[in-house]
Amino acid sequence: MVKCAIYMDHNASSAPLPGVAEAVAEAVTLGGNASSVHGCGRAAHALLEQARVAVQQLVDAPDGRVIFTSGATEANNMALGSSRFSTVVVSAIEHPSVLAVRKDALIIPVNDQGLVDLDALQAMLTKAKAGPDTLVSVMLANNETGVIQPIAEVAEMTHRFGALVHCDAVQAVGRVKVSMQEMGVDFMSVSGHKFGGPQGVGALVLGKGQNIQGLMGGGQERGFRAGTENLPGIAGMKKAVETIINGGVAIADVQGLRDAFEEKLLQACPGIQIFSSDVARLPNTSCFALKGLASETQVMALDLGGLAISAGSACSSGKVKASPVIKAMGFDEGYAESAVRVSFGPGNKDTDILRFFDLWQPLARRYQNDHISMKETAA
Ligand code: PMP
Repeated sequence: MVKCAIYMDHNASSAPLPGVAEAVAEAVTLGGNASSVHGCGRAAHALLEQARVAVQQLVDAPDGRVIFTSGATEANNMALGSSRFSTVVVSAIEHPSVLAVRKDALIIPVNDQGLVDLDALQAMLTKAKAGPDTLVSVMLANNETGVIQPIAEVAEMTHRFGALVHCDAVQAVGRVKVSMQEMGVDFMSVSGHKFGGPQGVGALVLGKGQNIQGLMGGGQERGFRAGTENLPGIAGMKKAVETIINGGVAIADVQGLRDAFEEKLLQACPGIQIFSSDVARLPNTSCFALKGLASETQVMALDLGGLAISAGSACSSGKVKASPVIKAMGFDEGYAESAVRVSFGPGNKDTDILRFFDLWQPLARRYQNDHISMKETAA
């Protein structure tokens, strides 16, 4: 992993699982184009097809079709941008790669824990006279707070209208159970680097019998996604998928770390706001705010100490901005500008938490003292 002494930002990009780098290197040396008919091509094709089956298994979609993409951003754009959908409905806390696709998308509000409002969804579907040309897109787990959405209920309701469901499962894979069959999801996006694979590779999985228009013309991926496949990336993702399927990622360890971390956080600052903590959340994610202590200040101070965390919302330009997710949950700008996210992954240890508090507690103390003296001056 990069040269951060301590990495606690696995929701941004998780550390590669053992064997992934080797699988990438092996595929680079294998060479061969999966579309070629000669032996080298056939070997590349075989690897590609094994990876396809592994991803099917990962998301429990035995009759599904796996389209390899450059990541979840592309998969989300492919699903939501498909011309077969005249109406698109998305939750207010989706990733920008979902929110940005359709300017005319209807937005499902969320409550103060970040859960989608199912009554509002029902009202929207009714008003829009939803049918087979309607797509509802709700993520399985949120990248900032980790909140887990009631996808099976969303799907059940949506299907009653004859409409279809897309689920961005990027943050859930490898951390909680993901089953397209059980959840009743028609389209699902996944991304290699969020579960220990390489960056720049992912997939859109089409449920049984589902179709979509590709965004690029050409023949690969059965016409769904043109361009020579990223074989090294896919080989690396395959290795990560197999490790997860074989139970090689210890979720319980990560949950133990997250819970111990939050206990310490509450001891240090009893009034601190921990987002989505009253509902089901990813076991590795903690998003919190001391209102007024800017996210950027915290991220930079910890970075100077060699510890990587993220602002609630790290925008793609690398700048920190007020979190739209926290705002959509009904919190004011002060909270949205102060939210930070700690996300654990394989390799984190108890001592990482100690180091976090060594660096963070002086900031929190200074902030609290300033706050108290400001109040006293005002009184
Ligand atoms: N959806 C979610 C929930 C994400 O967290 C991310 C990555 N930040 C994406 C989609 C985009 O994934 P990728 O990096 O593969 O384009």
